Amino acid sequence: MQIKRNTLIIATLLLSSLVASAKETVISGPDKNLVVKVEINEGSPSYSISYNGKQIIKDSPLGLQTNRGDFSKDLNFEDVTFSNIDNTYTMPMSKVSKVHYVANEMTTTLTKDKDTLKIIFRVSNNDVAFSYKITSPEKKNIIVTSESTGFHFPDFTTTFITPQSTPQIGWVRTKPSYEEEYTREEPVGTPSKFHQGYTFPALFHVGSNGWALVSETGTDSHYCGTHLSDGTKDGLYTIAFPQKGENGGLCDTSAVSILPMQTPWRTITVGQNLKPIVESTVAWDVVEPHYKASTNYVPGKATWSWILWQDESCNYKDQVTFIDLAAKMHFNYILIDALWDKQIGYENMPSLIHYAQSKGVDVFLWYNSNGYWNDAPQGPRGRMDTSVARQKEMQWMKDLGVKGIKIDFFGGDKQETMKLYEDILTDANRYGLMVIFHGTTIPRGWQRMYPNHVSSEAVLASENLIFNQHYADTEASCTTILPFTRNVVAAMDFGGVVFNKRFSKYPEKSGNIRRTTDALELATSVLYESPIQNIAIAPNNLSEQPQYVLDFLSKVPTTWDETRYIAGTPNKDVAIARRNGQTWYVAVTNGENINKKMTLSLPMLAGQKVTLYYDLKDRTIGMKEVEISKKGEINLNLLNEGGAVIVSKE
Ligand code: CA
Repeated sequence: MQIKRNTLIIATLLLSSLVASAKETVISGPDKNLVVKVEINEGSPSYSISYNGKQIIKDSPLGLQTNRGDFSKDLNFEDVTFSNIDNTYTMPMSKVSKVHYVANEMTTTLTKDKDTLKIIFRVSNNDVAFSYKITSPEKKNIIVTSESTGFHFPDFTTTFITPQSTPQIGWVRTKPSYEEEYTREEPVGTPSKFHQGYTFPALFHVGSNGWALVSETGTDSHYCGTHLSDGTKDGLYTIAFPQKGENGGLCDTSAVSILPMQTPWRTITVGQNLKPIVESTVAWDVVEPHYKASTNYVPGKATWSWILWQDESCNYKDQVTFIDLAAKMHFNYILIDALWDKQIGYENMPSLIHYAQSKGVDVFLWYNSNGYWNDAPQGPRGRMDTSVARQKEMQWMKDLGVKGIKIDFFGGDKQETMKLYEDILTDANRYGLMVIFHGTTIPRGWQRMYPNHVSSEAVLASENLIFNQHYADTEASCTTILPFTRNVVAAMDFGGVVFNKRFSKYPEKSGNIRRTTDALELATSVLYESPIQNIAIAPNNLSEQPQYVLDFLSKVPTTWDETRYIAGTPNKDVAIARRNGQTWYVAVTNGENINKKMTLSLPMLAGQKVTLYYDLKDRTIGMKEVEISKKGEINLNLLNEGGAVIVSKE
């Protein structure tokens, strides 16, 4: 990363004005629209954010509480320095392959006794990221017990956020696991469902002033994962540390670090509309890879029997059926889900894995994360929680040519668990394994920090469509919220594209009823970004779906060179374009229970003939060739809870 220091002149100029103006400094993004003001009032730091002159975040507290003292008050202003960041990096498996990050950086230095607190703000055209750094000439260790850090939105702001769960509730005490429902334009200050605050990423609609997505990135074994408190009536949300009951109630909720210590980055992506939010890369802009990929990790699609055929399908015969399905679909993977240790048996895994490989299909295996933090019963258990067991298991997988693991049921966001995530990823990379986390926290920059981290759940995913009709009833609406929230900051293993009309192995006689059209389901293969896509296709779909739908699923990429917001608003509809090589895929979904016309502006396809996959009246998928107008526009008719996909010619 290039950081040009041009500190001296600017800092000196500003210092003279600082003393006079209650120590107020301002930094803007390169195009000057996004402005952050940092103030030190009577020893306490705070910040505010405006965009195009309109308020996004009001004066909000900064600082943190530690065993070295309270770094939110009684601080002495030392100086402020500025620098420029101009950094280009690549993301081999993501929503964008090459990123050019240009930002201005401002570091405000404050002192307390002999210790120093630096507050670092980085401001690009649409992203603010900030972090604290504490140094001490005397001590080597620090314990951070809480933060004052806040996000104070105007009182007319509304929210799309998910509540933090009470710990050790839900199925076999596995919560919190970032699997809650989003609020839909709820006023700020509404008490959260469990009165435990909210999780990242959190989308705020600041009326006509714009939109802001608040999240966290760069968290590794040196800090806990944080979330937001419940908001006050007038819109102040503050950083909350993990709850005592997380991680099975063991280990502390604080963060412990060697000195100097730097916290994770808190990020605020701001726009007049939702375009900068969908396209944001701030989760990766401010972090660095922790290690190099040990091998060339290959993205792709997988079949998985568990989603529709459930626990009993994790047997040898059904896995062969789904290996054959993957081969027919030209998918490169099968995910063999929970209980294979008992229902297939370790002794039979070599022949099953070799069978898959003989069909050109590679294997992901499911694991329980478990140590001691919940009662999740599925095996294999106790193979991923200690380095000794883990490395033995990973060597076994490497010897068999297994390509990846899906690890489920983590214990929460305490630093101890963040360390477990990092250790699993680091060990897995040594054995050439990709890693997907389930029952898990949101990834915080991990796709770049740990190059073998390919996806995480951390969403109310497709399994809930099977568990509860309510989630099936809201499935279409969720497709219009997740692209603006959860999927912005990290790959998301939703595990969707369900063609069965009811969510079960026997859709003709049982299962919750699917409300969406087939075209909406197809669109989610593009709309939901994940380098490994676990597709919920079932063997019966091969004879039920037209060949052009199966061909689409065989071909659709899972990684992208470019991602563009085209249209849409949360809870209503969405259109997102993604490019792989020369080919554009435009995914469109209608989250509402009304038929809808949408006009999309696709200037990159102006005058071109494209293939349109669309809703037929019987809610199956039609395909036709259409031409995008010379002006770059296309009119679409979407059924209620319907969708469409546009694919450009190769
Ligand atoms: Ca789950």
